Amino acid sequence: MSKPPALRPDLVVKVSPRGASRLKDGHVWVYRSDIVSANEVPPGSLVTVTDHRGQVLGTALYSSSSQIAIRLVSREPVADFPALLRQRIAEAIAYREKIVHDSNAYRIIFSEADFLPGLIVDRYNDILSMQILTQAMDAEIVRETLISELTERLHPSAIVERVDPRVRQLEELLPRPSGLETGERTSTIFTMNGIQFHFDALAGQKTGAFLDQRENYAAAAQYAHGEALDVFCYQGGFALHLAPRCSHVTAVDSSRPALEVADQNAALNHAQLGDRGKEIEWIEANAFDLLKDYASSGHGYDTIVLDPPAFAKSKRDLDAALRGYKELNLRALKMLRPGGILVTCSCSYHVSQADFLKMLADAARDAHRSVRLTEVRGQSKDHPVLLNIPETAYLKCVIAIIS
Ligand code: SAH
Repeated sequence: MSKPPALRPDLVVKVSPRGASRLKDGHVWVYRSDIVSANEVPPGSLVTVTDHRGQVLGTALYSSSSQIAIRLVSREPVADFPALLRQRIAEAIAYREKIVHDSNAYRIIFSEADFLPGLIVDRYNDILSMQILTQAMDAEIVRETLISELTERLHPSAIVERVDPRVRQLEELLPRPSGLETGERTSTIFTMNGIQFHFDALAGQKTGAFLDQRENYAAAAQYAHGEALDVFCYQGGFALHLAPRCSHVTAVDSSRPALEVADQNAALNHAQLGDRGKEIEWIEANAFDLLKDYASSGHGYDTIVLDPPAFAKSKRDLDAALRGYKELNLRALKMLRPGGILVTCSCSYHVSQADFLKMLADAARDAHRSVRLTEVRGQSKDHPVLLNIPETAYLKCVIAIIS
């Protein structure tokens, strides 16, 4: 980046009629192809957005490199962005205080859904993990404000930044390593739904755990019984929640480091799980191969969880993704005993809830099973969905009884 970002709304970006109507419809993004002019605007600046006639539409963060050139932060003029940031952080924290129960790990700031586009902050007990995804949020003044506000309100023992190198490259930001922003601790133990988990801020996937599944773990546990299979188990999120209700849990993942943490998590919960904890078997395998082998050797289960990684990273992948989901779900349906429970998830935004249910219906038809939906769920409430920004709704979790 040549010039530093300017947090002055006297810079103007003009958008096309299509860009303007997108904003008027309630979305906050304008794509680069809908920018009419952005003269002399330094990367990452706070800008006033107008339509082609000059009518003001709001205040936005500008990216000079992303396909998403404009992310609106307010429909009003914003004179002092750090003050707005402080207010939004306070609101985001207050919302979580209301809706999160039985957990000291949850998402505190979810980007657009908390009106702070390009910013993600997760809390894992006493450690905060943050991700900065846009030029504007990377500005020094924004970082300082964010860290001081989070410290003042939550008193964490450490704040760690998790860097996604690919995002920094796309945003044309200088590379920087993941690491501590404040404090010294990078590992801790957090609790959700009464179950404890190890957290290492500088290892693992996402910012550390799949907090978006927290409420789905508890929901799945209500129905789980008998012999269970947790496919794509990662560090044991579902498996550990199922264990108290099931006679045996087999949990599968292709990542050995994830399974090692999963096993340590089982040991950590020894007091609650007792011998049930010992009944979790962690298997390192490719889930597709393993399901094929198990299905053909006639294995039966009473509960199966499918929580694969995102198969559709873009719209182009949709058909292939649906074929992948169908293969997994078809095999699971064939293996479930009558009265069995299927918990099936997709975290691909590009696979809509309708697409996902249609895939499941096709799999049910092909497997000659009937699928009675008991719950059609999404992400936990600390990952709120903004109705007019469909991209904020990405997780599907269907719980069904199979006969
Ligand atoms: N259910 C987990 C999250 C799963 S994330 C939880 O609630 O915490 C997806 C997981 O799939 C990752 O752990 C990844 O290692 C694993 N994975 C990806 N491809 C796989 C494959 N082909 N076979 C088995 N596991 C795979």
